[in-house]
Amino acid sequence: MGDRYAVIGNPIGFSKSPLIHGKFAKMTGQDVVYEAIEAPLDGFNARVDQFRTEGAKGLNITAPFKLDAFAYANELSESADRAGAANCLKFVGDRIIAENFDGIGLVRDITINLGVKMAGRRVLMLGAGGAARGALLPFLRQEPSELVLVNRTLSKAVALAEEFAGCGTLIVSGYAELADLAEGYDVVVNATSASLRGEMPPVPGNVFRGAKLAYELAYGRGLTPFLQAARAEGVAKLADGVGMLVEQAAEAFAWWRGVRPSTAQVIAELTVPLS
Ligand code: NDP
Repeated sequence: MGDRYAVIGNPIGFSKSPLIHGKFAKMTGQDVVYEAIEAPLDGFNARVDQFRTEGAKGLNITAPFKLDAFAYANELSESADRAGAANCLKFVGDRIIAENFDGIGLVRDITINLGVKMAGRRVLMLGAGGAARGALLPFLRQEPSELVLVNRTLSKAVALAEEFAGCGTLIVSGYAELADLAEGYDVVVNATSASLRGEMPPVPGNVFRGAKLAYELAYGRGLTPFLQAARAEGVAKLADGVGMLVEQAAEAFAWWRGVRPSTAQVIAELTVPLS
């Protein structure tokens, strides 16, 4: 039997990770077995202990366990440390190494797959939860002319900006003040969870004016209210988070196996048309 890996979450039934990693293993000829584990909400550590005892080599982590995985690790990569959360673990002897590939997956999808530059551009990010936090450093490393961070609970965005002070031009705003800062964003990213409930973050319509890309982190939901608003304002490119999902999976696969699978075909297969 090949080396064992899994994605762990609760619920886990809808996870695309087994499918994605199965395709990666096939295309790279790697002998791996990849499962889905639904751990009890209060049982992350015990379930991962068991999986490691069985000889497993690594885990992808999805909601709600990214903070548990961070706490479980005994070594942190810079991105996991900065994100304060882990979406991937590697087991090497007694070492439990944490990584967080969500941010780099998002940046790769925007800059490589969608071909939209962030360097020297104005970028607007909505939300200051886990996904936004993980994306901040990778975004700032692209050297946008400015990154504007907006959140409903302003104090969370302020705290993040303090944490990432000195990493680049990061400006914090509330939604109400956004109208004054609004026009002229090149990239608008919805890193809120509003779309999961069919809601729209309260942005003024003019944030989309002239934008090259509106990116929705949620995936598989077709045209969310955010993407509908962007389309109505004439944004040229619309994307959901399926590319981010596949790219972070490819980073994990490469980290574990030392070979990077190509992603274009897998993204195409998983893409749900935005209509
Ligand atoms: P969190 O729960 O950590 O954060 C949620 C964020 O959304 C907070 O900033 C919250 O604001 C904001 N928010 C929620 N509802 C609204 C609303 N109605 N209006 C304005 N703001 C709102 O979630 P995550 O960061 O983990 O996930 C965010 C999104 O990213 C989800 O859609 C998730 O599915 C997606 N995601 C996609 C991935 C991918 O691979 N494509 C990977 C990880 C996440 P406040 O602080 O005020 O509560």
